[in-house]
Amino acid sequence: KLSNRLQLVLEQIPQGSTVADIGSDHALLPVAAVASGRVPSAVAGEVNPGPFEAARRGVAEAGLGKVIAVRRGDGLEVLEPGEADCITIAGMGGALIASILDRGLSLGKLEGVKTLALQPNVGEDILRRWLLNHGWVLTAEHILEEDGKIYEILTAVREEDAEGITNEQLYRDFQLAGGTVCDRELLLEMGPWLLQAPNAAFFAKWQGEIAKLQGILTSLTRSEQVSAEERRNQIAAQINQIVEVLACLP
Ligand code: SAM
Repeated sequence: KLSNRLQLVLEQIPQGSTVADIGSDHALLPVAAVASGRVPSAVAGEVNPGPFEAARRGVAEAGLGKVIAVRRGDGLEVLEPGEADCITIAGMGGALIASILDRGLSLGKLEGVKTLALQPNVGEDILRRWLLNHGWVLTAEHILEEDGKIYEILTAVREEDAEGITNEQLYRDFQLAGGTVCDRELLLEMGPWLLQAPNAAFFAKWQGEIAKLQGILTSLTRSEQVSAEERRNQIAAQINQIVEVLACLP
């Protein structure tokens, strides 16, 4: 059975699309996507030899060797332009996912891709910024807690396919009930859709971030340096902003 995390990534794949799962490891996601009838065929890409072999084994054991191509290569290199209409990348840092997309873009490998379903482990803001800067619009964001870890899943389509959702709208500054302004930077950090419909995992994530920042603040308080004072003020302001935002959410 798939983890709830990968199940939620799977649910972002449009029915009937051709999916490429990059950094597929055991190929659990493409195997489940094909076996469940969601997609007719898939590509599993892996750069490292161990996970590549694991993906080959996973596909062979599922008896899906004819419909899932397992390929070894870096990022989107494994794709022919136009081959996949949905790309999934899960379980890596946001910066690595953004660099894979960047390189794929310059190689023309995003041609024909309509949907991106991405699950960064950290650095979600980096990925949101990449999407925003490259003409992709978030159509959904999910956050869940599993086995003590919190995961976010970002789903994006191209601006022209976003059916009325625009980045302008998604990242427009707005004022919370208490007067705090949610600006673009904060929306990139916290997620425009997640902020609209926060769940328990969202609150847990940001309570955790507050605790981390407070830890940094405590260690800086022991420092006598002038530069530490500036940094302290910055962090204190960051904490206040998060606290105020959380207090104003439904
Ligand atoms: N996607 C699976 C999941 O979410 O459970 C596996 C995640 S695993 C933590 C990350 C995988 O990405 C590793 O198997 C690693 O070899 C692969 N990977 C890292 N960088 C990559 C790249 N540039 N291209 C392809 N695969 C990559």
